[in-house]
Amino acid sequence: MSTFQAPKGTYDLLPPDSAKFLAVREAIAAPLRNSGYGYIETPGFENVELFARGVGESTDIVTKEMYAFETKGGTKLALRPEGTASVLRAALEANLHKAGNLPVKLWYSGSYYRYERPQKGRYRHFSQVGAEAIGAEDPALDAELIILADQAYRSLGLRNFRILLNSLGDKECRPVYRAALQEFLRGLDLDEDTLRRAEINPLRVLDDKRESVQKQLGDAPLLRDYLCDACKAYHEEVRELITAAGVSFEDDPKLVRGLDYYTRTTFEFVHDGLGSQSAVGGGGRYDGLSEMIGGPALPSVGWALGVDRTVLALEAEGIELELPAATSVFAVPLGEEARRLLFAKVTELRKVGIAADFSYGGKGLKGAMKNANRSGARYAIVAGERDLAEGVVQLKDMESGEQAAIGVNEIVAELEARLG
Ligand code: AMP
Repeated sequence: MSTFQAPKGTYDLLPPDSAKFLAVREAIAAPLRNSGYGYIETPGFENVELFARGVGESTDIVTKEMYAFETKGGTKLALRPEGTASVLRAALEANLHKAGNLPVKLWYSGSYYRYERPQKGRYRHFSQVGAEAIGAEDPALDAELIILADQAYRSLGLRNFRILLNSLGDKECRPVYRAALQEFLRGLDLDEDTLRRAEINPLRVLDDKRESVQKQLGDAPLLRDYLCDACKAYHEEVRELITAAGVSFEDDPKLVRGLDYYTRTTFEFVHDGLGSQSAVGGGGRYDGLSEMIGGPALPSVGWALGVDRTVLALEAEGIELELPAATSVFAVPLGEEARRLLFAKVTELRKVGIAADFSYGGKGLKGAMKNANRSGARYAIVAGERDLAEGVVQLKDMESGEQAAIGVNEIVAELEARLG
């Protein structure tokens, strides 16, 4: 293995592509910031217990994919595999739910870690932007989150995504359904592992991607037919609110998610250009999670959108984001005196908010102009001894190739005017 190789299942974000990632994070965060969500940051690791209890002991995430380790002090920690449990833990620790302003609405952005089999769109280190609304049971809140995710994707120009929607019931109706599904699964021709899963977490079997399993599930009982009246009414209200907002979705009665804590509203955003790793985001209501991790009853709802896969979705749709130029002006000094003067001008330009860069390392005109070109700058300012003797610099429009002499004292004002 080369010393310069990133660990398996990870990759580095490098310029210029990294600018796309920042823009995607920003585009997902913007609708949240605009809707009363406050920014939260939690540690990259937590006590392993939090995820075991919060995400679920029977999930792949906890049993197979968690980076768990023991510290020198003997504490068992895990790199966070997802955001919700940490955010809820932090909110409970700070008593945000007692401040009398429910729901507590939070958004976050960061790195997550899962020991998965890497493939395109599936990494061991990935990025999510997420949102959680803690402490309120209101179909409008579920609808709000779905609408905001839709808005985020649309603001990026994405079109080929679909929203899948389902209800997982609550602690009244889900156990009845669970028993019925278990009964059905016991009668199927399944391998030992899957039968075991059917006993621990039968809903997850519905999510099995293998054809041999899927083809036996045609007659599986559906949760839809077991929902209690309260869950049915709640789900209907969510559907109506999203529809009224002009957001289209598909009912997917078999949609379950990889985490144990979901109740009622469950949704996933899938993109049709991504092959097998098609989920670009997902979320739902998790009314029981707070109690599962030792807190009070706090019905909540949230989602997390994958930044890596959203970038892949942009590529799949051939969308080029309009990113602001990294550098607008590039300064090319020829000689010592010009170096001092232009360095000062670059500093001035930066102070007034113009993105400017400088040819470092005492290059000659040819090499420096090559750098100016590569920087993508719209303008180059070039100055040599003769220019300075006349009190001017050459301002070159890198698009048209036009060049004009301008007074040294007019550089900043002229570029401000030209760059609008
Ligand atoms: P989940 O918590 O599994 O529903 O994940 C939410 C979103 O995070 C998914 O829809 C993906 O976009 C993204 N995601 C989850 N796991 C990975 C991974 N291993 N690699 C890249 N993105 C991921």
